[in-house]
Amino acid sequence: MRTFLAILVCRILTVIGKLVGKGTSLPGGYALKVCPDILRRLKKPPVIIAVTGSNGKTSTVEMIAAVLRANGKTVAYNVEGSNQIEGVTTMMLNSCTWGGKMKQDVLLIESDERYTKFTFKWFHPTHYVITNLYRDQLTRNAHPDWVFDAIKESVFEDTKLLLNADDPTVSLFGQGRQDVVWFGLDHNAYDSKEFSGAYHDGAFCPLCGKPMEYEYYHFNHVGQYACTACGFKRNPTDYSVTEVDLDQSRIVINGKDEIRLAFKSIYNIYNILATYAICDQIGIPTEKAAQVTSNYILKNGRYIEFTLGQHPGTFLISKHENSVSYDMSFRYAAMQKEHCSVVVIVDAVSRKYFTSETSWLWDIHFDWLKENHVKQVYLCGKYCNDLALRLSFSQVPTDKLRVFEDIDAACEELRAHGSEHLYAVTCFSDRMKFLSNVTVK
Ligand SMILES: [Zn+2]
Repeated sequence: MRTFLAILVCRILTVIGKLVGKGTSLPGGYALKVCPDILRRLKKPPVIIAVTGSNGKTSTVEMIAAVLRANGKTVAYNVEGSNQIEGVTTMMLNSCTWGGKMKQDVLLIESDERYTKFTFKWFHPTHYVITNLYRDQLTRNAHPDWVFDAIKESVFEDTKLLLNADDPTVSLFGQGRQDVVWFGLDHNAYDSKEFSGAYHDGAFCPLCGKPMEYEYYHFNHVGQYACTACGFKRNPTDYSVTEVDLDQSRIVINGKDEIRLAFKSIYNIYNILATYAICDQIGIPTEKAAQVTSNYILKNGRYIEFTLGQHPGTFLISKHENSVSYDMSFRYAAMQKEHCSVVVIVDAVSRKYFTSETSWLWDIHFDWLKENHVKQVYLCGKYCNDLALRLSFSQVPTDKLRVFEDIDAACEELRAHGSEHLYAVTCFSDRMKFLSNVTVK
């Protein structure tokens, strides 16, 4: 009876929520009040995949769902980022029968890294993908070490772990376990011997605290590492990107499946690799996973092409309070080697809560923008002066900088002048403030 009541409450509130344009976490929240152990009570599909980590969750989940559906599987998943226990509850209660049975083949859950322990208190995933752990939302998450401890509480013996071998903190989840599935990138032409970044979270061994040595870096602290003291090192991988050719927009996984890249970023490659690995683990033929992820254009609005006046442009979603995501976007712009300008917008630090905390700007490696082919760097929004101060401590020449508090005014100037490619880099919280000024392709 309680199960039925919880489902009823959730569905009524979902309908009302849709009418008034409210989010998807509230109905689940009330359902949990009616029946706190509702997630345990539901009859769940035989395959339960969870995806967590700092970056790449939404994109990876979207691609996994696409592969599963293309292979005739039915799947229930949280489509739009509502990834705390309330949002997951809403999704599950709206996907089951009135009797509490989920009839889909697969339950696929994007789970917030701090809240995953609350969701999986009630049931365990059969497969658990952990993508990466970076400094992210400092005011909420504190340090990645703390997030590691939070995720650790959701890792159980009866779950198969799929871990990113290239990220030392993530690989720590596999310590002492035999059944881990590892994925990662082989050494490739885009790696560097030298570390680049404003800080180095892989400088010391996460196990014993002694210095770590890197043979090469894919980016930031992600690469081929080994502790100089205790033997902790990158694991050999079960799923590897064996070839990367960003110029030709292609990768090869495990030496056999070629995948074309709709978007030539290292991030995208990791998300595809995780998708490939999990799909193979649950019995989808690898060539099918390769087929669907090939030229896959994400629907979640993380990469958008646009025009502004005479400028063609690429909008790269990053995350405020997440320096690695900015590093990756700037690196992408720098690697294209074409004449360009970069627009950086920090106007509302978070869309979920108020904070004016900007220390994370000091963690971003703005030096990517010192390249000669980056013509100008527009610093826009409420925190334009914080950006300008930060950039004054970088190697980006100050005469490249244009500071605009008013985002519309910056766009107006760009509309009137120039025709170089634009890269616009900002967070979800500020994205429409820019996109409302441009023509999206
Ligand atoms: Zn060590």
